[in-house]
Amino acid sequence: MAMLSDRAICLRHFEYSETSQIVLLFSRLRGLVKVIAKGARRMNRAGEGKFGGGIDLLDEADALFTDYDDRELNTIAEWRVVAARAAMRRSLRGVHLGLFLAELLAELFEQFDPHAVLYGRLSWTLGKIGGPETESVVLAGAIDVLREAGVMPRIAFCSTCDRPVLEQKDVSINTEGGGVVCGHCESNLSQRHRIDARLLRAAARLWKLPRTDDGAIELPDDIAPLDARMVAPLYAMLGRHIEHTTGRRLRTLRRVVEA
Ligand SMILES: [Zn+2]
Repeated sequence: MAMLSDRAICLRHFEYSETSQIVLLFSRLRGLVKVIAKGARRMNRAGEGKFGGGIDLLDEADALFTDYDDRELNTIAEWRVVAARAAMRRSLRGVHLGLFLAELLAELFEQFDPHAVLYGRLSWTLGKIGGPETESVVLAGAIDVLREAGVMPRIAFCSTCDRPVLEQKDVSINTEGGGVVCGHCESNLSQRHRIDARLLRAAARLWKLPRTDDGAIELPDDIAPLDARMVAPLYAMLGRHIEHTTGRRLRTLRRVVEA
C-alpha cells in the first residue's frame, strides 16, 4: 500500500459510524486529503484511543496515510500531534478565526492540489492566534488564501470606475458583487455600507507582504492596529465576493463578522 508520512492540519471532521471519523486534512505535500480514521473514537480498557480518542479540529500532526490521488477517501494510520494550539483555544474568538481560515481552504481548493507555502502560512498563523497581533495575522492569512485561490477582489480600486480608493475618505462596499466603490460612484448603490479606509489601507499592505517558505510574515510597524469590530466589514465583503464567484456560502463567516 502506498503510504505517505506528512505534516498535516485537521480542517474538518465528521463522526462516521460509532467508532470512526472522516477527516479533511490540509497536508504540506498533498494539499487537501480526505481520510477515514478507523477506530478513532474507540477506547481500549486503559481509556486510550488509537488517535488519542479522535482527531481534533485545527490540531497539527505528523500523519501517516494512504496516498491515492484517484480516491475520494484515503485511510489514515497515524496521527501524532505536534501543535495543539493552546493559545488559540483560550478564546472563542481565536477558535472562530482558526475555523474561518480552515473553511476558506476547504472550500476554495480541491483534493491533491498542493500549496506548501499556504500550508506554512496556516501553520504559522494558527500559532499566532491568541497573541497581540491576532487580527492582523488572520486577515493577512485570509487574504493570502483568497489570492492563491484567485478569488481576492481588488480592494485598492473602485469596482465601478477603477479610480484608486485607498486615499479617499468615503469608500463603500458593493453588496451585490463584492469589492469596493468610491465616493463618486456610491450614489448608484442601492444600499450604502461604508468601510473604514484605514482598514483597506492595512489590508492592501498585508496583501503585499513578502511570502516566505516557513509561512512567517513580518508586520510593518506603521500598519493600523486591527480589532474584531474593525475587520468585520472587510470579512463580510470577502465572504460576499466568494459567494458571488464560487456560489459557496461560508458557514463560519457569521461568527467572525458578529464579533
Ligand atoms: Zn468609482
